[in-house]
Amino acid sequence: MSSTTSDSPTPGEPEPTAAEQRQCCENWQAVRERVATACHQAGRGPDTVRIVGVTKYVGLAATRALIEAGCRDLGESRPQALWEKAAAFATVDRSLQWHLIGHLQRNKVPRTVACGALIQTLDSERLAIALNQAAVAAGVSCEVLLEVNVSADPGRSGVVPAAAGDLLEMVAGLPGLLPRGVMGMASHPDAGIDPRQDFAHLRTLRDTLAKHCPAAGELPELSMGMSGDFEAAILEGSTMVRIGSALFESLR
Ligand SMILES: *Cc1c(COP(=O)(O)O)cnc(C)c1O
Repeated sequence: MSSTTSDSPTPGEPEPTAAEQRQCCENWQAVRERVATACHQAGRGPDTVRIVGVTKYVGLAATRALIEAGCRDLGESRPQALWEKAAAFATVDRSLQWHLIGHLQRNKVPRTVACGALIQTLDSERLAIALNQAAVAAGVSCEVLLEVNVSADPGRSGVVPAAAGDLLEMVAGLPGLLPRGVMGMASHPDAGIDPRQDFAHLRTLRDTLAKHCPAAGELPELSMGMSGDFEAAILEGSTMVRIGSALFESLR
């Protein structure tokens, strides 16, 4: 536990061991290479996909290891964990972008907006109103993705595809919100559906939304793909993959 990384951490913030740091760098490089290979197969440049490192499984030390490895986009599913980690690393690196990828309760909106987080899970008008209020009060504009339940799985969150257009129209009229695109997940593996089919569906939906709601802007972001299926998502046009387990293998 006495090993240290090259620069000194913020006081009180746990540090990864040298072995953990090495493992995390290896995992980061391996994921980057897989992303680059999938981009190549899709005829896209390697920088057209952002890797959002999902830190929900790990504490501050492993999160720090991932930042040291080079990851700048970080995702958390619980708002409190996002606040805590964003605060811990705000002075270490100001270029970090946090992403909320889990459910956001309205009473947790102001603090999450204050962290400058991109909200990937906007799925209701009530949440849009709360986010807009907080953003306007803070004098910021809050980037959001509409979370769409493409597989129409009743156990999943997200707006159903048929209701996404109305939600987007509403969001486009709120001065504090900046819609950037959509987020979604492939069907549960038990459903026996090829993930590419769900990803293609999400891309088509995004294209349709952009066409029918010009006020929302271009909607450039398609957040789709996780550790088990990100290559398929990249082949279908993903611009943001949300990777947890593949980055923290042998590190938990
Ligand atoms: C946990 C989580 C991920 C990352 O999943 P892995 O399979 O560990 O890569 C991505 N997106 C969401 C919404 C999640 O909750």
